[in-house]
Amino acid sequence: MYRKKYFATLCLAALILCCHGNAVPMKGAGMNSFETAATRNAQLRIQLSWHFGGKSQRGWNLYVPLISRLIEAEADPDSPEFARGVYRWQQDVGLQPDGIVDQETWMKMVATFQSQRMKFRQAATPENLFQAPVADFYDPTRSDDLRLVDRVAYDAYKRMISAAQAELGPASKSNSGIWLKIISAYRSPAYQAALRRRSPNSGRAGLAMRSPHFSGRALDLYVGGEPVSTADANRRIQVSQPVYQWLVRNAARFGFYPYFYEPWHWEYRG
Ligand SMILES: [Zn+2]
Repeated sequence: MYRKKYFATLCLAALILCCHGNAVPMKGAGMNSFETAATRNAQLRIQLSWHFGGKSQRGWNLYVPLISRLIEAEADPDSPEFARGVYRWQQDVGLQPDGIVDQETWMKMVATFQSQRMKFRQAATPENLFQAPVADFYDPTRSDDLRLVDRVAYDAYKRMISAAQAELGPASKSNSGIWLKIISAYRSPAYQAALRRRSPNSGRAGLAMRSPHFSGRALDLYVGGEPVSTADANRRIQVSQPVYQWLVRNAARFGFYPYFYEPWHWEYRG
């Protein structure tokens, strides 16, 4: 009798220990583990191999501003503090947390960025479109028919750039005042098809068949470098600009959300 009770107590203790072991993640919980995760992140940031838009991609370095915003940690991406932010985010989204932005975590981040984009991609109707003044455009010779923008998105854009100018000060005024000017807004399906014919190798990530630009609510804004080149070296220039980093932190206040792959492309969701 006594032995049976003793055995039962042992079993119960083992069960509690087991459950406890499961509930408290052992991996990555201590400061040393965050340091280990940081070392791994420093490698993967440059080397992680992944695919997007029919192309091989390398590393997540170009997306550090977006990741920092997502995990709410404005720390150096190679730091234990950044790894701690990743760990918390992994817990929130139901991934096994370890503080490392590996393939699985990165693809989950990409899916999260993509889920924040506009869902409604129907072509704009003429009464919703407004012809913006040429002064708002990157190309000072852009023709009238290529300066159409959804009215609501345009108002939000104007509020956003006023705030950017006020908050960034001189940083937004350098480079001959072309920061955040509109490169492209509304594109008709016919115009998009013509663009696609001109650059047939732009890939699926580039000139989409059902472009958000049809809605008049997607704006390509000047954030530095070559205006709309996805070359890694060009995007590296763009994502290091104060204007881009300001957009990442603030655009949602004005209803704009990024397309993670193109630093210049912002979509108005309201
Ligand atoms: Zn675009």
